[in-house]
Parts: sequence; structure tokens; C-alpha cells
Amino acid sequence: MTTTTSTVRLNWGTRYEVTVLDLGLACCGVEVMAALHGRGDDAPEPVPAGAPEVAHVLVVSGTVTDVMLPAVLASYEAMPEPKYVLSVGACSNTGGPYWDSYCVTKGIDQMLPVDVAVPGCPPRPEALLDGLRALHRMVTS
Ligand code: SF4
Repeated sequence: MTTTTSTVRLNWGTRYEVTVLDLGLACCGVEVMAALHGRGDDAPEPVPAGAPEVAHVLVVSGTVTDVMLPAVLASYEAMPEPKYVLSVGACSNTGGPYWDSYCVTKGIDQMLPVDVAVPGCPPRPEALLDGLRALHRMVTS
């Protein structure tokens, strides 16, 4: 599993900084990395951070196999409250092209309380940023 932890500065208020724990499990993880570590005008500003214990948002991107599921759940459990989950891509949302595989979770929402699901195979990096904005609206409304 490729995991990166980033502190992503979003304009959620002058005193609030969002730390994203990115669990890149397959190809969708590359798009998440592009979104979180891109240098476009629309990209958030990432700062290397520590571990699940400092994360506010868990991004699950890619195919959640039965082998990797315990690590995903352990990451979520280690995060402090309040915590939020973004499911990114068809695999994480529904199992995607592997929906009928015996060893793939048919949607991480069956295991975790997903707040925002970003569709696509893979979603564009901009779609992830839209998902973060949707989460922002949900948290601040
Ligand atoms: S949704 Fe598509 S791009 Fe994303 S991990 Fe699955 S197969 Fe790869």
C-alpha cells in the first residue's frame, strides 16, 4: 500500500488547517497525489505530516482488497475526532471493475462512515478537490 500523509491547507477559516491522510491503494491514488501535491492555482498547499493520529480527513483511493482492509480500518480508528472519510473512485466506492472479485470490498462505505464519495475510474484530480469542497460545505453548514 502506498500511503502519504499531507497537511493540506484549505481556506476553511483562518485558524483551521486540514490534515489529509491519503491511503492510495491503486491507480486512483496517483490522481489523489496529483491533486494534493500539484502546483496548479487550484491545488491546496501540502506540507509533510505525520500519521493517522494527526489526520482529520481519511482519503481512501483505489481497490480495497481484503488484505488491505485491516490497515484501512486501523488508520481510521487511529484518527482523532472529529474525522471524515472521502472515498475516491469506483473501486473504493463500489468495488469498481473488481466488484465481483472474492477478495475486494464492495464499497468502503460498508466498513466506514463515508462522508463524500467521488465518482470516476479514475476521478480527475479536480474531482477530488471538488470532493474536499463538498466536505467543507458539509462540515461548515
Ligand atoms: S476506480 Fe479505476 S482507476 Fe481507480 S483504482 Fe479502481 S480501476 Fe484504478
